[in-house]
Amino acid sequence: MTNYTQSIQNLMNELARLPGIGMRSAERIAFHLLKQNPPEAMKLADAIRDVKTRIRHCSVCYNLTEQDPCGICSEAGRDQGLVCVVEQPKDLLALESTGLYRGAYHVLLGRISPLEEMEPSDLTIEPLMQRLASGIIREVIMGTNPTMEGDGTALYIQGLIAGRFPNVQLTRLARGLPAGSNIEYANKNILADAISGRQRM
Ligand code: ZN
Repeated sequence: MTNYTQSIQNLMNELARLPGIGMRSAERIAFHLLKQNPPEAMKLADAIRDVKTRIRHCSVCYNLTEQDPCGICSEAGRDQGLVCVVEQPKDLLALESTGLYRGAYHVLLGRISPLEEMEPSDLTIEPLMQRLASGIIREVIMGTNPTMEGDGTALYIQGLIAGRFPNVQLTRLARGLPAGSNIEYANKNILADAISGRQRM
């Protein structure tokens, strides 16, 4: 194995830790950055710094945002009595892209997954219960992915809500979404149908 200088080796190691980037790609990207002029290469460093200093989770819905509460939580005309529960900010973006949904969201930041050691306490379930305790929310739409883990998470939350807030209506996205699929990759028309055709749980 070739010995690079420490700083090149560090860069390659950091790149190789990114999802989908092996050591071979890390090496290629590192040498690409070395060839670029400094201002060009520093754009990547600046973009990483910006995203880590400016972006945080909304204290209400846990969406990613530069302002708190986020644009969706603070948007006038949004129905705050309707909350769609999703796994990740990417799912929220996919549903938003339909332009059809005018309610609020709650991002769980994951799903219950024994394999990935994700337990209910690792998700934003308790903050969701606190939102429900405010009494403003009349309907919760389960928008978790139609996978085994997504369904399990929805059932778990449904049980909690039914026990603590029996007056809240529980619905889930219609099953136009193929089983095992991901909301973030579904096309807009299917998502729009899934929202408008949502069913009682
Ligand atoms: Zn928010």
